[in-house]
Amino acid sequence: MASGWMADRMRSFRFLLAVRFTVVMTGAVAAVAALSYFALRQGLVRELEASMLNVASIQAAVVTDDPTGAMHFHEWALTADEAASVRDLIRYLQIWNTAGESLVRSAFITEDLPLDRAALARAGGGTLTWTEGTFQGIPVRALYYPLERLGELHNRHVLQVAAPLEAQRRMLRTVAFLLLSLVGTVAVLTFLGAWWLGARAVKPVDAIVDQAEDIAEGSPRRTIEAFADTWEYRRLVSVLNRMLDRLEQALETQKRFTADASHELRTPLTVLRGELEVALRRERTPQEYTRVLRSSLEEAERLSRLAGDLLTLTRSEAGAQQLQLREDDLAVRVRIALDRFQRQAADKSVQVQGPASPGVLVRLDVDLMDRVIWNLLDNALKFTPSGGKVEASVVETDGNAVLEVSDTGPGLPEGTLDKVFQRFFRIDEARTAEVETGGTGLGLAIVKAIVELHGGTVSAENAPEGGSVFKVTIPSCGIMKTPS
Ligand code: ADP
Repeated sequence: MASGWMADRMRSFRFLLAVRFTVVMTGAVAAVAALSYFALRQGLVRELEASMLNVASIQAAVVTDDPTGAMHFHEWALTADEAASVRDLIRYLQIWNTAGESLVRSAFITEDLPLDRAALARAGGGTLTWTEGTFQGIPVRALYYPLERLGELHNRHVLQVAAPLEAQRRMLRTVAFLLLSLVGTVAVLTFLGAWWLGARAVKPVDAIVDQAEDIAEGSPRRTIEAFADTWEYRRLVSVLNRMLDRLEQALETQKRFTADASHELRTPLTVLRGELEVALRRERTPQEYTRVLRSSLEEAERLSRLAGDLLTLTRSEAGAQQLQLREDDLAVRVRIALDRFQRQAADKSVQVQGPASPGVLVRLDVDLMDRVIWNLLDNALKFTPSGGKVEASVVETDGNAVLEVSDTGPGLPEGTLDKVFQRFFRIDEARTAEVETGGTGLGLAIVKAIVELHGGTVSAENAPEGGSVFKVTIPSCGIMKTPS
């Protein structure tokens, strides 16, 4: 199970996700709702004003058609019930003179309409003017319509038309309520939907993390299986599994390496200690002391060789080895190494043959590459019996420099061609009983690590006519123009 901390994180992630979704969705819907509301309100006001203007212009024409100047409105005679049923459509009319005295008003109102003197003055000046006020407790919109445009007789008269706003306000309130309900519903549904979606989105990650945590805590499980078959998470799970696999392998190798290394270090130390203990048991002759000291020195040298090899190997494999790369002729490096082996070879009556010119240019770390060449030649010479031959060649093939070291020794037994490059791998001592290798079993592992640091590969094979061939391939920078 995910830890409480993890569960809390997942919950807060879902909460934040849901809140963000809700804010965005509700914001968008609220904006559209607000726009719709204002557009509707605007439309209703326009419609009302158009109808009021219509009434005003008709009534103005009718009320001023008497040549004597007498004025009266043409209105329906409505019963109280009828008036109540068309209450919202009713238009109240009143004519004022510019001094604010009422001249005529609708038959069905018993009191004056509310008078806005500023509006009256503006209308008296010839401008159509709109105001809002309250009449008999009801909000109304009023139009002040100048009658001067209808003749001399009326140039000091203003017609006021008032319309109740109640119906319009009621409608706007209903629409506002509906829109607010819509926004609220959208907010709640979006939050719930996003919360649910968040749970669905988080669930696989949750399950994958659970299994990864189990593995981290030492469960016997080796791979993550959760959601490994779903197309969305297949890649994530397989990357994690590959990583786990590599970690496990690295850990295994590390364990084996440490075990092997301590085992290898213990043998010479035990021998050293044994010899010194035996020597100290009683008084010895100077010759005996010299023999013990010599033997101890040999073991000490073996230990120091082993420590050096281990250091080179771990550094190379961990990539901690700083490469001092420079372009150099690989064939020249081989010939220099062969020169050093000349005497040893002559003592053993082994014929040595070096690479022909021209050489091949390679970007290499001279010290490390010399170590590769040295290890291969040393092995070849060690295993080649008297009268045999060691041959080293360097050629350029497909943009690679290929170094081959062959010998006429016993070759490598079936099934060991790959294994010889493993650390501490040694072939059955009995096979090479006559050869005192004195090796640490790390020589070829070091060769492999260094070659790989140079971006190359190394392999071993047996020559058909007997003996082994070690082949190193590294990217080349070209063939030497002049003979090396
Ligand atoms: P060491 O450092 O002990 O020589 P290496 O890693 O160099 O170990 O070699 C591993 C094993 O491969 C050795 O035990 C040896 O038996 C075998 N080997 C290496 N080179 C040759 C060769 N040229 N001919 C035959 N066997 C070889």
